[in-house]
Amino acid sequence: MSITAIKGFNDLLPSESGLWQFIEQTARQVFARYGFNEIRVPIVEKTELFCRSIGDTTDIVEKEMYTFTDKGGSSLTLRPEGTASVMRALIEHKLYALDSVNKLYYMGPMFRHERPQKGRYRQFHQIGAEVTGASDPLIDAQVLLMVSRLFQELGLAEPSLQINSLGCPACRPAYREALVAFLAERQGSLCEDCRRRQGTNPLRALDCKVPGCVEATQGAPAMVEHLCPDCNDHFAAVQGYLVSAEVPFSLNPRMVRGLDYYTRTTFELVTGLLGSQSAVAAGGRYDGLVEQLGGPAVPGIGFALGVERVALLLGDRSFERVPDLFIAVMGDAARTAGFRLMETDCEGKSLKSQMRRADKLKARYSIVLGDTELAAGSGALKRMEDGRQQTVALIAEGIAGAITGG
Ligand code: ATP
Ligand code: MG
Repeated sequence: MSITAIKGFNDLLPSESGLWQFIEQTARQVFARYGFNEIRVPIVEKTELFCRSIGDTTDIVEKEMYTFTDKGGSSLTLRPEGTASVMRALIEHKLYALDSVNKLYYMGPMFRHERPQKGRYRQFHQIGAEVTGASDPLIDAQVLLMVSRLFQELGLAEPSLQINSLGCPACRPAYREALVAFLAERQGSLCEDCRRRQGTNPLRALDCKVPGCVEATQGAPAMVEHLCPDCNDHFAAVQGYLVSAEVPFSLNPRMVRGLDYYTRTTFELVTGLLGSQSAVAAGGRYDGLVEQLGGPAVPGIGFALGVERVALLLGDRSFERVPDLFIAVMGDAARTAGFRLMETDCEGKSLKSQMRRADKLKARYSIVLGDTELAAGSGALKRMEDGRQQTVALIAEGIAGAITGG
C-alpha cells in the first residue's frame, strides 16, 4: 500500500502554486511600501512560549497545539501562530534596541490540531506583520490601512473589516466583572465550555458559536462601553484616522479574538463566502506581550492572514505561468546550444511534437534552432497567436527585444 499524507496536511500542487506566489509577492510588495522587513523564525519552539503568550485557557493552547517531547526530554510545540515567535526573536536579538520602532513580516506554515474541513486544516499558512515600539493610534490605523490595501491589490472586494477595542489592564477587569455577572444569570443556557471558562476566560462566551450561547449573550455588556478614558481616546483616534484615509470598516463589539495577549484595537477581516470559516485575516494590539515574555515594555500590534482562505477567495482565477519563448531544437549542435539557454527537448522528439508542446505550454513565441540557424546566427521568431514571423539575431538581446517589442 502506498503512503499518503497526514489528514489535514496538504500538498500544494503546481497548478496552485502560481496563485500562492501571487499572494506572497503582493504581500511582500505592500509590506515593503510601509517599511516592513521579513523575519524567518523556526517552526518549532519551546511549548512554554505559546502557553505564556497565547494563554493557557485559550482554544489554541487547551486543545489545538501539536506538542511533543523530543529525545532530550524537552516539551516542544509546532508553532500555532507567528506573533509569539517573532516577539521571542525580538527580545532574544534585542531588535528593539536597534530601532525604536520595528516592522517585521513573516510567512509560513502554522499547525493546529483542528477538525479538517474546507478552509480549516492542521497545517495551514499565514502571512503576518508586526509593528513594535509604537502605541500611537496612527500605527493601528496604518496597519489596518495596509491590510485593506493588500486585499485591494489582491483584487478582493471581500472581505470586510470589523474592529473592536478590548481595553487594557486598567479597564478590562471591571468589564470582566460586569460580563461575569451578566453570564451568571444565564448559566443554564450556556454550553459546557462557556460555563467552565467563566472563572478563567469569560470573554470567550461572546465568541462561542453554539446557538444557545449566541442567544444567551445577546445584550451582554460590551467592552467598548467600559473603556477607560485613555483606551476610549485611543480607539476614537484609530477610527478617525480610518475615516480620513477612507478605509471602510464596521464596529463589532462582540469580537473578542481567541488569544489572551490582545489589548485595545482588535480586528478581523470577514467574508460570507467561506461558510463558517469566515475570518480571512485577524489581529490586534498586544501592548503587554513583550514584557510578559521577559522583554522590555514595548507595545505592539499585528495581524495574520490565512493563505488557504485567501486562495479560496481568489480561487477561479488563473495564475498559469506561460513562457515567453519556446526553443525547438533540431540536430545535435542545436541540442547542445539550446540546453544551456532554457527548457528544451530532452527526449529526441520530432519538430512537430516539440511544437505541440509549445502550444500546450501556451508559449507566446517560438523559435526553431537547427544547423542552418546556428550557421547564419539568426532564426525565425514566430508569434504563436497569429503565426507572424520575423528574423532575429540569435543573441539574447535580439530575441528579447523582438519579444518585448511585440
Ligand atoms: P477561526 O475563528 O476561523 O478558528 P482564528 O481566530 O483561530 O480563526 P487566528 O488565530 O486569528 O484565527 O489566525 C488568523 C487567520 O489564520 C485566520 O483568520 C484564518 O484565515 C487563518 N486560520 C486560522 N486557523 C486556520 C486553520 N486551521 N486552517 C486554515 N486557516 C486558518
Ligand atoms: Mg481558531
